Amino acid sequence: MIETPKQTKTIKDQTADEPPIHDEYGEADLAITRRSPYGTLAEATYAGILSFMRRQYSKDLTGADVAVFGVPFDISVSNRPGCRFGPRAIRQASSMLAWDRAWGWSFDPFERLAVVDYGDLQFDPGYPREIADRLQEQIREIAEHDVATLMLGGDHFCTYPAIKAHADQHGPLALIQFDAHSDTWRDNGDRLDHGTMFYHAAREGVILPEKSAQIGIRTNNPESHGFNIFSADWVREKGVTATIEAVRSIVGQHPAYITFDIDGLDPAFAPGTGTPVVGGMHTGDVRAIIRGLQGLNIKAMDVVEVSPAYDVGEVTALAAATLALDLICLYASQFPDHKLTSS
Ligand code: MN
Ligand code: MN
Repeated sequence: MIETPKQTKTIKDQTADEPPIHDEYGEADLAITRRSPYGTLAEATYAGILSFMRRQYSKDLTGADVAVFGVPFDISVSNRPGCRFGPRAIRQASSMLAWDRAWGWSFDPFERLAVVDYGDLQFDPGYPREIADRLQEQIREIAEHDVATLMLGGDHFCTYPAIKAHADQHGPLALIQFDAHSDTWRDNGDRLDHGTMFYHAAREGVILPEKSAQIGIRTNNPESHGFNIFSADWVREKGVTATIEAVRSIVGQHPAYITFDIDGLDPAFAPGTGTPVVGGMHTGDVRAIIRGLQGLNIKAMDVVEVSPAYDVGEVTALAAATLALDLICLYASQFPDHKLTSS
């Protein structure tokens, strides 16, 4: 029998009054050796089995608060493909972040919430007509456990089945969308396209445009379909604080889905994506905007459109991993009194 490596630190040690010890790598392969879904433990950033933020890999959602999963899907891109490799790249980049709690937040979300890596969703790209239903079915199975989801795309079409699955649980959702593109262009609805799904989602009533905000837009669409649009230029001119105030006043406490298309960032900060558009937002600014949304009624989250083949020095993957962690912090901000229930 293979012995589990002895753990030199425990979650209890990590939550004690004394500061955590960071001068040793006492853990290895936390994705499978971690004993608790809670807490932050250090592991060599360059080694070990990859999971998002070194969370436990599990298909068992008992006791979980948030399930992180990948959707290695890029069939509906309109320009450069490759974001089927996004989940893997984001997991790898997250190993650089997993030893410490997220900068800028006053708490460690992993002390409030049990977060597991659920692995990747499965589908057969040889049956494109079945993919949307298959994804929706799998996400619904997770959502039915009363578990929030953080989806790692995959192209932005993945958000469509995710929204439908969560709308089944929570009713019509407000959408908070960071993106260079509105993704509300019209088509006949029979196509897989990462630029039209929010048009259909709004028509079907699973998202409410008047409660929704699109942030960072810088491509032309003659129709807004009632969405509240904040262009990248608007954000730059008015600033972070005004953007936060505007989004908060639109969304209020309505159940919300937050989606981050990585091309919302300027290509200088996120070159590794399929449809880059210059003149975008700064990573530091969008992090500040996300922090400013604390306390909103967020139900589910995603980061999509990371295409590692076009990345440089893991810039995009690291931005995506950091923003995904920020989204977990944002979700955790709703539960300030949530305490450790196991150790
Ligand atoms: Mn986009
Ligand atoms: Mn998009």
